[in-house]
Amino acid sequence: MPSTPEVVDAETRPPGYLDRSWFGPSLARWLTVANFLTVASLISVAALLLWQMRTDAERRSELTANSLVQVLGRDIARNVELYDLSLQAVVDSFGRDDVAQAAPELRQLILFNRAASAPGFAFLLLLDTNGAIVSGSNPLVPKGLDRSDTEYFRHFTAHPEDDGLHISPPAISRVSGQHMIMLSRRLSNPDGSFAGVVVGGIKIDYLRSLFASVDAEHAGTVTLYGPDGVILMREPFDQSAIGTSVAETPSYRRMIAMRDGSFVGPATVGDGERRLTFARLGTEPLILSIAVAPSRIYAEWWQRALGLGMVLLSLCGVTAGLTWLLRRELGRREQAEARLVAANAHLAEQATTDALTGLGNRRRFDDALAQEWGRAMRGRWPLSLILIDADCFKGFNDTYGHQRGDEALRLIAGSIRAAANRASDIACRIGGEEFAVILPEVDMARAEIVAERIRATVMGWAMSHAAGPHAVLTVSCGVTSVPEVLAHTPSALGAEADAALYAAKGAGRNLVRCTEPSERAL
Ligand code: GH3
Ligand code: MG
Ligand code: MG
Repeated sequence: MPSTPEVVDAETRPPGYLDRSWFGPSLARWLTVANFLTVASLISVAALLLWQMRTDAERRSELTANSLVQVLGRDIARNVELYDLSLQAVVDSFGRDDVAQAAPELRQLILFNRAASAPGFAFLLLLDTNGAIVSGSNPLVPKGLDRSDTEYFRHFTAHPEDDGLHISPPAISRVSGQHMIMLSRRLSNPDGSFAGVVVGGIKIDYLRSLFASVDAEHAGTVTLYGPDGVILMREPFDQSAIGTSVAETPSYRRMIAMRDGSFVGPATVGDGERRLTFARLGTEPLILSIAVAPSRIYAEWWQRALGLGMVLLSLCGVTAGLTWLLRRELGRREQAEARLVAANAHLAEQATTDALTGLGNRRRFDDALAQEWGRAMRGRWPLSLILIDADCFKGFNDTYGHQRGDEALRLIAGSIRAAANRASDIACRIGGEEFAVILPEVDMARAEIVAERIRATVMGWAMSHAAGPHAVLTVSCGVTSVPEVLAHTPSALGAEADAALYAAKGAGRNLVRCTEPSERAL
């Protein structure tokens, strides 16, 4: 029986056949792996890109905040220095005898000369040791008014040794009715004793105009802290925050410790995290900071990341879909090829099988004999051949009909199959009522045993055969074998077996006859 070919070689391959071992699952697997690697690399590159964009956004925001703090801080520091110079001029002039002795108008001119030129500087007042107004840069300011309850006056009476600049929290001026930050200095007599206070006011509105130049919506919250963490100014402007102290907040304490720089910490006003960029202004206890919420720093980056993520996700989806389609297509092809191979194998089997008995047919016999002949010659091992012929079968058909004759032929085929049952034995129906068995690696003696078994089995069925010489169905067998018999070709071997069969027929049928061993062969 022909078996299904496991491997389809180049000669027997059907047209259109694709080598599955290369093109089938392994190609699909490689394609999937390649696609997966491509997608993974794409995602990695995009992730790296996004990470760089994120770092850039952070650095850009920090740089912007830093340059704003520097520019605005320098502006504010210069103004405060200018105001302080006015105060110092008053302090210096106040102690001079010639100024003290000058006429009141001249004295007024000398003391408050510089105050008028400073932008945003509202006025200058001189208070005596009791806190009463002695004179002012504005001649209309009424003299004698009591200012002993003010924060700055109380500061200097409490700290008589403090001869530096004092910056007060924002308050409403009783002179102008405007929001002011008071700058003050101690006045001393020539002997060094306390002589009063000189005070000037910076208009909050002026500071607001300075802060307004900053685009707070994009830059973040700009805050100016005075001594003790008091908020002097804030943009976007928030009246309720002005004047409050944030001295106890962790971020303010960190700013005090660092002097200038940048860090992420809790907001000094309100909730949440902020990136704080800040600097100390000159030598004064003033800190300017810009606070930006991380969500604002990364807002633009998030938009880009989302866009890129969506594009990437779509690309991955398309790639995965295409890979799946390709795999499915390859799978289908593979199945179709497997079906084709199976169909071809079935056809090939049919082409070499006898339909009536299921044994190999004449073609199979010829091919197998040639093949086994070659193998026997190469391997130098024996090869036997048995020819089997139903006795007086014409008479059987004539007596019992063709159909019964077919049954008898099937019975003979079954008997042959049972007797020649090694995997290497090849049984075929080679003519109407003629059969053959090829026995590779079997010598004459053992082949004769097999033939005898076939003959006995057929007779054992005791199928009536009135026209036969033994009244039951019988077969005659001719056995031959190389190397016992000298034969040079497969057909010569067949002729030898035929001769033996002829001899069996001649000797009375229902017999097994072997060809005589050739002398030269032995
Ligand atoms: P011998 O003992 O000398 O072999 O005599 P024989 O009658 O068997 O030989 P012969 O060659 O005269 O007849 C062979 C017969 O086999 C002829 C035919 O009726 C019969 N036969 C051949 N093929 C088939 C077949 O497929 N089916 C049936 N039922 N009979 C067949
Ligand atoms: Mg015959
Ligand atoms: Mg016959």
